[in-house]
Amino acid sequence: MATPSTVSLITPTGLSYQQPTGLFINNQFVGGLNGRTIDVINPATEEKICSVSEARENDVDRAVAAARKALNGPWKLATPTERSQYLYKLVTLMEESLEKLAAVESMDNGKPINSARGDIGEAIGCLRYYAGWADKIEGRVIDTSPQHFNYTRREPIGVCGQIIPWNFPLMMWAWKIGPAIACGNTVVIKTAEMTPLSALVAAELIMQAGFPPGVINIITGYGDIAGSALSRHMDVDKVAFTGSTAVGRKILKDAANSNLKKVTLELGGKSPNIVFNDANLDQAVRWIHNGVFSNMGQNCCAGSRIYVQSGIYDVFVQKLKEHVQQLVIGPPEDEKTTHGAQVSKTQLERILGYVESGKKAGARVETGGKRVDRPGCFMEPTIFSGVSSDMEIVREEIFGPVGVIAKFETVDEIVEASNDTTYGLASGIHTENLKTAIEMANKIKAGTVWVNQYNGVHWQLPFGGFKQSGIGRELGEEALFNYTQTKTVSVNLGIPVV
Ligand code: NAD
Repeated sequence: MATPSTVSLITPTGLSYQQPTGLFINNQFVGGLNGRTIDVINPATEEKICSVSEARENDVDRAVAAARKALNGPWKLATPTERSQYLYKLVTLMEESLEKLAAVESMDNGKPINSARGDIGEAIGCLRYYAGWADKIEGRVIDTSPQHFNYTRREPIGVCGQIIPWNFPLMMWAWKIGPAIACGNTVVIKTAEMTPLSALVAAELIMQAGFPPGVINIITGYGDIAGSALSRHMDVDKVAFTGSTAVGRKILKDAANSNLKKVTLELGGKSPNIVFNDANLDQAVRWIHNGVFSNMGQNCCAGSRIYVQSGIYDVFVQKLKEHVQQLVIGPPEDEKTTHGAQVSKTQLERILGYVESGKKAGARVETGGKRVDRPGCFMEPTIFSGVSSDMEIVREEIFGPVGVIAKFETVDEIVEASNDTTYGLASGIHTENLKTAIEMANKIKAGTVWVNQYNGVHWQLPFGGFKQSGIGRELGEEALFNYTQTKTVSVNLGIPVV
C-alpha cells in the first residue's frame, strides 16, 4: 500500500516502483505545509508523470531547522570513520538500485537510458570518492617558535543549502552532498523543479543507509521561492549553487543581503573547442561531436564554439555533418537511442529561438535547425557555419544541441577568439603537436582544458569556472576546501605578557 507521499509508477522501461513525492525532512517524506504541488512532466511524451510537494518558505525553515538540529546533535558526534561508512553504505545501495535510478532519471529528464546509466555510475563514483576522503581531512602543525604550539583544524562550515539544475539531476546531487557530508556538514538540497524524482528515490536509500535524521534533507520547489528562501536564510551557513549565471548573481546578492553565508557557484559556459590542421581527424570529429551533442547539448561545459584551422576546415565540416546525422533520435527508453528529448517544452522553445536568431543574423545551417517531427520535446542536432563573433548564437549559452563552427588560421588569432567571452568554464584542443597543446592550455582562460578529448570530467579532478562561469571548485580534493573552514589554534607554552 502506498503511503500518501508515494505514488505507484511504471517507468517507460517497464519497471514498477513506488515514487516518493513528499519533501524529505528529518528522514521522513512529508507534504508541503501549504499543500501545494508541482506537476512533473515526461519531456519525451509531454505527459504528466506525477506531482511532488512544493516547498515554500516555511518548509525551507523546517528543513533548515532539521539540518541544524542534526548538526548540533548526532552528526557532531559521528566520527570521520562513521561518516565514511554512511557514505559507503549509500554507495552500495545506489549500486543495487542503479537500474531503477537510471530508469527514473531517463523518464524525468528525457535522456537516453544508456546515458542515464552512465550518469548514475558517475554519481556513485563521486560519492565513493568522498566516502574515502571523510577520514582524511586533516589540519597542520605550524612551527613559529619554540614557545608556541600552533595547529589548524578543518571544521565543517555547518548547515549547507545546495541548489542544483536539471541537466544531470542525480550526478549534481552527488557532487553536492558527497563533499559536504564527508566534511561533517548537514545539508538541505533543493532539486530543480523539472527533475525532482531521482533524488527522492535516493532519499529512501539515505534512510536505509542509516544516516541520522536531518543530516540530508531534500526539498522540491521553485527557484525563486524555495531556492531563494534557502539562499536568503539566516540560519544557513553556506550556499552551493549550480545553474545559470543569471541566477548565480541573485544567489550572491541574497547571501550578501542576509547573513553573508559562504557561496560557491558553478555556472554556465560557452566553451571553445579547437581543431588544428595536425589533429587526428577522425578522433577530433568524434570528440567535437561528443562535446556539442552529449546530453542533447544541455551541458554546462558543452564545447559548442567549434573552431577549425583552415587547412582541414572543409573536410572537417563534411565529416562532422556525416557523424551528426548518425545520431539515433528516439524514445529515451529505447536502448538504441543516442539522442533523447530536451528537458522541457520551454527549453525546446528557447533553443528554437536561438536557431531563428542565428538564421536571421545570416548564419548557415549545415545540418538540423528544426524541432523533430514527432511528439515530445525533440530537437534536431544543429550546426551553424558562416558565423561571426557578434552573433547571439556565438556569444550566448544555448543549452541545447546547437554548435557554431568557424575557421581560423593562427595560434594568436584562435587564442583571442577563444577568450572573447564572459565565460570560462571549459575548452577543448585537438592537435598532435604537444607544444601547440601546452601553449594553448596555458593561454586559454578556462577552468578546464581538455586535450584530444572532451567532457572528460572525473570526480578526482577539480571542476569549475574562470570569469563569470563560477566561484570555487567542485570535485577533487579542492571541493573539500569549500566545505571546511580553517581554525587556527595558537598555544603559548610559557612566554609572559610584556
Ligand atoms: P537555473 O539557474 O535556472 O536553475 C538552477 C537551479 O536554481 C534550479 O534548482 C532552480 O530552481 C534554482 N533557482 C532558480 N532561480 C533561483 C533563485 N532566484 N534563487 C535560488 N535558486 C534559484 O539553471 P537551469 O536552467 O536549471 O540549468 C541550466 C544552467 O545550469 C546552465 O546555465 C548551465 O550552464 C548551468 N550548469 C552549470 C554547471 C557547472 O557545473 N558549471 C553544471 C550544470 C549546469
